[in-house]
Amino acid sequence: MKALVLTATKKMEIQDINQPTVKPNEVKIQTKYAGVCGTDHALYNGLPGSADAVPPIVLGHENSGVVAEVGSEVTNVKVGDRVTVDPNIYCGQCFYCHTDRPELCENLSAVGVTRNGGLEEYFTAPATVVYPIPDDISFKVAATIEPISCAVHGVQLLNLTPYQRALVIGDGFTGQLFAQILQAYGVHQVDLTGHSDKKLAMNKEKLGVTNTYNTKTEKIPTDYYDVVIEAVGSPETQSQAVEATRKGGQVLMFGVGSPDAHFEMNTYEVYQKQLTIQGSFINPNAFEDSIALLQSGKLDVDSLISHEFNLDEVENFLQGNVKGVSKAVVKVGD
Ligand SMILES: [Zn+2]
Ligand SMILES: [Zn+2]
Repeated sequence: MKALVLTATKKMEIQDINQPTVKPNEVKIQTKYAGVCGTDHALYNGLPGSADAVPPIVLGHENSGVVAEVGSEVTNVKVGDRVTVDPNIYCGQCFYCHTDRPELCENLSAVGVTRNGGLEEYFTAPATVVYPIPDDISFKVAATIEPISCAVHGVQLLNLTPYQRALVIGDGFTGQLFAQILQAYGVHQVDLTGHSDKKLAMNKEKLGVTNTYNTKTEKIPTDYYDVVIEAVGSPETQSQAVEATRKGGQVLMFGVGSPDAHFEMNTYEVYQKQLTIQGSFINPNAFEDSIALLQSGKLDVDSLISHEFNLDEVENFLQGNVKGVSKAVVKVGD
């Protein structure tokens, strides 16, 4: 079968390899689509994602496909089922798993990071992380359930009520997801910041946000928001997030910064406004909610997917040679 193998840091190759074999508790999936995101850029460049990827490895932690084979112990899916895979596999035995915070697992492994993922024609996953998808969710959209689930986890870490005013900093794919998810969770005012008037206008029309701010030319209101979601990961926007909150506010630090970056904040402000600053890591128990959100029609993802690549176009994208990508998916099967 055809596989796109990360053979070394910054090096990928399409290879003809054997189909994987299934263990008793595993499912073999014929891939339809795989999503590619910032984590894949990091892994391609030799940086850690949620865990380290050691070449040779097949990336593709966001994916969808059809069950091709099941191991003898598998009961939750059968051959022919349409499925998606939660890439994150928890050990179930460490301190964090034992205290109901599996996302902090000391022995985290992940499909498409520490074991082969969806950028090949067939891949395997433990049955515990395989989720059936309803017929009305396309394979293309299903490949984005993983990033949706990470945003849903972030939202679930917040204390949300309908009266709140929320700001999403960053109008890329993640910001676009948050703008919609916050509204689906009942927040009545969701504002959005970005860098391009054209993109902000499009997002305002499509996502139903209340106000937009182009931070190149406009100032975000300070001491105004109950909830601010930072979806960029730069020290500048992290400082903006803290300043934009009003008293009692919550900041979700979602954007992934560089490992050695620091942002400046006024600690008196954190004290005086009684702020909550919340980190968010991966996606525990958020796949079912994400599938339900898509089914509810409150989340439009299809129109946010800006690029569809073939396997042989992925490396060029990961090298940063494709501009204007909001969300990219890879068509792996037919
Ligand atoms: Zn991802
Ligand atoms: Zn664990």
